[in-house]
Amino acid sequence: MKRMILVVLTFIILLAVTAALSEAATGDATVPGTKPKVVVLATGGTIAGVGDPGKISGYQPGTLTAETLLWGVPEIDEVADIEAIQVCNVNSDDITAEIWLTLAETINRLAADPEVAGFVITHGTDTMEETAYFLNLTVKTDKPVVLTGSMRPATALSADGPLNLYEAVCVAASDEAIGQGVLIVFSDQIYSARSMTKVSTYSVMAISAGEAGDIGIVRDGNVYIYEHPGRKHTLASEFDVSGLQTLPKVSVLYFSVDADPELLRYAAEHSDGLVIAGAGAGEFSKAWIDVISELQIPVVISSRIDDGLIMKDNLLCKNTIAADTLSPQKAAILLRLALLNDSSQEYLEELFLRY
Ligand code: ASP
Repeated sequence: MKRMILVVLTFIILLAVTAALSEAATGDATVPGTKPKVVVLATGGTIAGVGDPGKISGYQPGTLTAETLLWGVPEIDEVADIEAIQVCNVNSDDITAEIWLTLAETINRLAADPEVAGFVITHGTDTMEETAYFLNLTVKTDKPVVLTGSMRPATALSADGPLNLYEAVCVAASDEAIGQGVLIVFSDQIYSARSMTKVSTYSVMAISAGEAGDIGIVRDGNVYIYEHPGRKHTLASEFDVSGLQTLPKVSVLYFSVDADPELLRYAAEHSDGLVIAGAGAGEFSKAWIDVISELQIPVVISSRIDDGLIMKDNLLCKNTIAADTLSPQKAAILLRLALLNDSSQEYLEELFLRY
């Protein structure tokens, strides 16, 4: 405990010195009230993590508050006026549908304020892609909504959080990012929510968009966007989660050689829908085909392969729906939202071709 207090104190002193040095170097040239207002919604993750000074592993994610994170990056003050909201402070594996709904509700409410230019969400990288895709389908604004995080805790040597946070605020404050759907800013690159995924458990270049690629770059605070998301999002999305407390339950099952088909029956009994991470183009064993063909709940077929496409022609069971290029975890989000509207096969098939 004493050791933890010492570590946090050392970190705070370090931040204070950095802040003072930076203020002395840059001066305070900005007139208050003339900058765009960006709301920072903090949820935890490694970016708010604290560990042994200098070390990059064995830390506690979701420890520092939004205020402390912002205090560590005084350069943000030159870019935007910030309102900080601590939504939760968790390892992102503990993010829940309830937290997603709170984020969507908060953004939708604050986006109506003409003073607010955009939003930044600090988030753990493990499930960042899921939160980003959920918000991409549920926020009703064209104002920038940008997620960021880090791979190294705040107390690590060469922590990547401060620059990521700075760049995320620059994107959220930028006109370039308006109408682009929910974005992720990480290690100088800008990704769109539908295609972004975590690809490394250790590298600071942990985020990728696979075949789709990044859609832009941030460099010294300048924002360059080159591509636009092609699928429906934000204002064009048909999903309305206002007033909801929870979402339908969808389970994701991963096929591997000899995988027990009883898992399917168990999951189907306890879920409103299933997503299968099949092998190759969404395939699985005869034993799984037999059980899946009999299931009475919606079943979406995705792949355990990162890049690729599942089309109707690939499906081994007639009662299933192809996930298109959505990963299993993102297909689960689209299915959870879809089930709020309609569970028919026709509706779901058409939906997975549009989002
Ligand atoms: N386990 C951490 C989280 O997702 C990892 C990270 O933030 O990079 O909260």
